[in-house]
Amino acid sequence: MKSLWSDADAASYIRRYAKQGVNEDVALRVYTTQLLGGDPRLVIHGGGNTSVKTRMNDITGRSLKVLCVKGSGWDMGNIEPPGLPAVRLAPLQELVSLDALSDEDMVNVQRGNLLDSTSPNPSVETLLHAFLPHKFIDHTHSNAVLALTDQPDGAEICRDLYGDRAALVPYIMPGFALAKKAQEVQGQYPDCEGLILLKHGVFSFGVSAKEAYTRMIRLVGMAEKEIAKSKQKPLAQVRLPKKLMKPSEIAPVLRGLCALHDEDGELEKRFVMTFRTDTKIKKYVSARELERFSQVGNVTPDHSIRIKPVPLIVPAPNAADPAGFGKGAAAAMVGFRIRYRSYFENNNGKSPVKKIRLDDSPRVILVPGVGLFGVGSDAKSAHIAADLAETTIDVTTNAEVVGRFDSISKYDQFEIEYWSLEQAKLSKGAEKPLARQVAVVTGAGGTIGRAIAAAFKAQGAEVALLDRDAKAVTAAAAAVGGLAVTADVIDSKSVDAAFRQVVEAFGGVDIVVSNAGAAWQGRMDEVEDKVLRESFELNFFAHQNVAKRAVQVMRQQGTGGVLLFNTTKQAVNPGPGFGPYGLPKAATMALMRQYAVEFGGDGIRSNAVNADRIKSGLLTDAMVKIRAKARGVSEAAYMRGNLLNREVTAEDVAQAFVNLALAEKSTGAILTVDGGNIAAALR
Ligand code: ZN
Repeated sequence: MKSLWSDADAASYIRRYAKQGVNEDVALRVYTTQLLGGDPRLVIHGGGNTSVKTRMNDITGRSLKVLCVKGSGWDMGNIEPPGLPAVRLAPLQELVSLDALSDEDMVNVQRGNLLDSTSPNPSVETLLHAFLPHKFIDHTHSNAVLALTDQPDGAEICRDLYGDRAALVPYIMPGFALAKKAQEVQGQYPDCEGLILLKHGVFSFGVSAKEAYTRMIRLVGMAEKEIAKSKQKPLAQVRLPKKLMKPSEIAPVLRGLCALHDEDGELEKRFVMTFRTDTKIKKYVSARELERFSQVGNVTPDHSIRIKPVPLIVPAPNAADPAGFGKGAAAAMVGFRIRYRSYFENNNGKSPVKKIRLDDSPRVILVPGVGLFGVGSDAKSAHIAADLAETTIDVTTNAEVVGRFDSISKYDQFEIEYWSLEQAKLSKGAEKPLARQVAVVTGAGGTIGRAIAAAFKAQGAEVALLDRDAKAVTAAAAAVGGLAVTADVIDSKSVDAAFRQVVEAFGGVDIVVSNAGAAWQGRMDEVEDKVLRESFELNFFAHQNVAKRAVQVMRQQGTGGVLLFNTTKQAVNPGPGFGPYGLPKAATMALMRQYAVEFGGDGIRSNAVNADRIKSGLLTDAMVKIRAKARGVSEAAYMRGNLLNREVTAEDVAQAFVNLALAEKSTGAILTVDGGNIAAALR
């Protein structure tokens, strides 16, 4: 590991932050915290923390000794001064005289001594930083160091390697007790450059930001060298079936198995998943001893909060026997849930404070020969789970090179997973109505499609935006915060590829808004067959392409779903010259009902929105102008030509789709969004 310290960069941080009234100590603290946090081999996703002891003025102008320490909710890689809240140092240091301190009391003292009461909670490792005498303190969960400490004889290995350069601290759960132990150990080795926290991570410290940082890089570099010195032996591999199922075939099956149901079998919660693979991941998930080393526990304790103590392993998915894979995966999931529940019961029995069990679905799923899935309540948490799994693979693979991977006890993992402070961090209040659902919107590069995607995202769904216009869909997806997929819905192969992409990104599909369409015109005695057929391709067959593929995924998941079609007034109230547009849309309305009839038993609903006179690519300003003129009314009056006398917008259409997605007992239904038009009312 190379030091990235640069005197010029350090000076520029000092200059830049001075303009914001930030002192030199904090500016340098930000600088090296970002350096450390920028390397995923050292920390990821909120792991690790740093501090500096400095002076600041309180409101009366009195100069105080403070500890600026990483606040919770901040990542080291992009930390800024507000992410390093200042806590009065003296009251923290006085706590060292206590014999014990509960986590809740510790947090209370830490918050009570913030200089700015609106700051985030100081790190749970704040007292460790406060009790050590050094000015700058860095803490990471370095993969290389973990590969050495996560061994049955990790203490010996580290003692041999580091000698007196870094003192060893036995595993203790982060908090007051660990802070006291670290201080005691450091007192015994006053000249050490850092501490190795067994099965947890590494601390370094110094009089300057540069010294603490350089020492961290050196301690990590020594571990890397030690691993490189060990005889490299690749993980022995299992024999795999000749042909394996594709991730997009596996994901919906696993996603369905992950879903939670209540006692009556009603679906309670879905999960979002994301797929990862590369050579290293494949070697790990296909290792002969995967069962042994993947089920020991996590590589560093705080992973247990995000990914539970162990991942789920499913059988290798033989492409020749997908049904067999389904059965094997289902049995593996049942086993996982039973083991998780007994892990909870056993350890909760030993715990002084009784806890409420969390859900028993895995957060990481390992698929031999294929790769891994991260599982979470949304795409973000699924990605975090997958990132932590990749870190696990890195550490474990190296640990198996050095010796044999080991972790903290199941009880210690339970204490972390059910830690009251961490649980508080994760509970973000009530979820949005469409949380944990994946919505696909076609024609999402256009005005209405984009509004639909935005409306579903606003209700908590993960959205995939499909359009054949790559530029338009990329822009729309960026604006909405969804996945951009370039696909031509009239081409069933393109639709298949699009669904593969969506399923790999999110694990499956729950909602489809089949919205793509275009208006062709012509009187029936004049229209060419070619025009009519073109319109049928987009306004009917494309809907069938999308719905057919979506239903296949939904049935694999076994957790229902909803198809939503964008039809038109023309389908029920034809206007002269609009036959080429209205006819296929009328067929699509019938298609919607056909899906409702055939898949209601699978819990798959099928509904349509019948909208009229919305400004979009189909009804441009120029067209409004012509039509308004033809009727002898103003353009505004034309747009308001309905019973409510109000213009109907793309957002109104989008809201109607959301309403239908939420109407859990409605199928085969058509919701009209036209401001009121009795002539076009359904009868
Ligand atoms: Zn830590």
